[in-house]
Amino acid sequence: MIPELMKAAVLTAPKKFEIQQVPVPAYGDDEVLIRVTQCSICGTDVHIYNGHYSRDKLPLIPGHEFTGEILAVGRNVSTLTPGQRVIADINIGCGHCFYCRRNELLNCPEIRQLGIHTNGAFAEYVAVPARLVIPFGDAIPDNIACLTEPFSCVVRASKKIGLKIAESVVVIGAGPVGNMHIQMARLLGAAPVIAVELNPQRAELARRCGADKVITEPERALEQIKQFTEGRGADVVIESVGHPELYKQALTFMRPGGRLLAFGLTDAETEIAIKPLEIILQEQMIQGSVAGMGEDMHQALHLLTHQRFITSPFCEAVHQLEDIQQVFSSLFANPQHLKIQLRIAQQ
Ligand SMILES: [Zn+2]
Ligand SMILES: [Zn+2]
Repeated sequence: MIPELMKAAVLTAPKKFEIQQVPVPAYGDDEVLIRVTQCSICGTDVHIYNGHYSRDKLPLIPGHEFTGEILAVGRNVSTLTPGQRVIADINIGCGHCFYCRRNELLNCPEIRQLGIHTNGAFAEYVAVPARLVIPFGDAIPDNIACLTEPFSCVVRASKKIGLKIAESVVVIGAGPVGNMHIQMARLLGAAPVIAVELNPQRAELARRCGADKVITEPERALEQIKQFTEGRGADVVIESVGHPELYKQALTFMRPGGRLLAFGLTDAETEIAIKPLEIILQEQMIQGSVAGMGEDMHQALHLLTHQRFITSPFCEAVHQLEDIQQVFSSLFANPQHLKIQLRIAQQ
């Protein structure tokens, strides 16, 4: 039985969530309707909440880091069945352009992201194209499964930057995503893994999650990075904050021949100066990456299933959907929680 109405957290204006009864989304012949059980809150949701992103899409039901159970499938869907526990790739490309064929969906001219451009999962139900749905059985609980999307972003980023065994890595910022980058680097055999993080609780978490060294005094960062990398600078530097000053510093933390992963989101207008001659003569590289998609999602789910990540700091703070306004108004109150999750229904 599919109800007509559902409870949803609708962002009606920047910084204003309303819990509303809205129609359950219609699902097409090639789509499935998912009963959402849990959804975690992403930095992107915070940007949307503050009115810095997707503002023209309001009113919007955000939420893209979700897990749930299939309630109904469209007429053409033969590979999925109601009752299956699932997650979903949120990147809905056209499916046939140059970029979609190469799994570079974000460059597809028709890209839509669930919960960012169209209604997402801070709601009881969400409709998703069947080809993007990934069933996962009973191997992991909801609060781990809904971390697949964020971890898929660092899985993809590590592939984009070509992180190799025994390379030294500096991660600037050990917030939620920085912490995941630290774990990913460690998993891939990077050494040493160096974090730059000023907040004492997050610095401690960075250590717990795999950083060999944590730099807490920014003015000494360059000197310390050199010291930890035999005087050279890091093979790979990951900017995971999104600050122009930190991007400038990141360029200085790289060794000649090193690579910079641009990951922290800046404002659209932010610019930094670079010296092309240095990049050329030192054979350096700057690589961007933002979201996981396609295979990255499957790989992240696989790694989570095999407990390759320390997930406890990401899944211990769980709130009810009804409390969403309160949750968003006090998001950074507890830095030891790297993620806040919303419980939407029982598993
Ligand atoms: Zn996210
Ligand atoms: Zn496309």
